[in-house]
Amino acid sequence: MLDGTIENLVKLQAIDTKIASVARELDKIPEMLKGHKLAMDVAAAELANNTKSLELERASILQLETALVEYNKDVEEANKKKVAVPIERLEEVDAEIREKRMAIVSVEEKLRFSRGQVERLEEYMTSHAKEATDTKEAYEKEKAQREVDNKGLFDEIEMLKAERDNFVVALKSKNKKYERLVAKYDKTLNSRNNLAVSKVVDGFCTGCYLKLPPELATDIKRGKELIECPYCQRFLHDETVAV
Ligand SMILES: [Zn+2]
Repeated sequence: MLDGTIENLVKLQAIDTKIASVARELDKIPEMLKGHKLAMDVAAAELANNTKSLELERASILQLETALVEYNKDVEEANKKKVAVPIERLEEVDAEIREKRMAIVSVEEKLRFSRGQVERLEEYMTSHAKEATDTKEAYEKEKAQREVDNKGLFDEIEMLKAERDNFVVALKSKNKKYERLVAKYDKTLNSRNNLAVSKVVDGFCTGCYLKLPPELATDIKRGKELIECPYCQRFLHDETVAV
């Protein structure tokens, strides 16, 4: 005899369905939070890019400044050389000086450009650092708000889990067969999309939507034994069982 076995499994399924529905609600990430996260990530990435560019530009300024010192030293030395050099080599030294001076002009031009870049990047950084902080703050605020909003759902899911635990303990203490049945139920629940018990409607299993052999439908109606769907292995019940 079944002694309400299928009714108990149906009740367990009802609790598990509620748990799954609250869990789904908790898993949803609101669009607004996604938007804040995206803005925060974009601002952080831009800041990182600017920092990198700024570092490169500053390194290039250091190199140019070193080159400038070298070229100036070269010109100074060439000028000193001019005093001692024989007259026929004077042209050669002058050419060298002209060449170095041209190099100096070119380096100075590059330096002006690089310093301008640094200035622009620094300005950009200041505004973007603020944007990065603002977007991060907005995201954290939204996230904290969501946790407050979800408090009710967390409480609800904890309550349902406790209800389930108590119910299973009560079943097992009532009859030893529930050890095996609940284990089988759990296995099906996990492997069959959170549905371990399904209703038979017009000879079809509503778990897998396959037509059951007619004799099985008759057995289910008689309600003398626990019957599983031969296709999806879910426990079957008919409409006489209140859900
Ligand atoms: Zn089925």
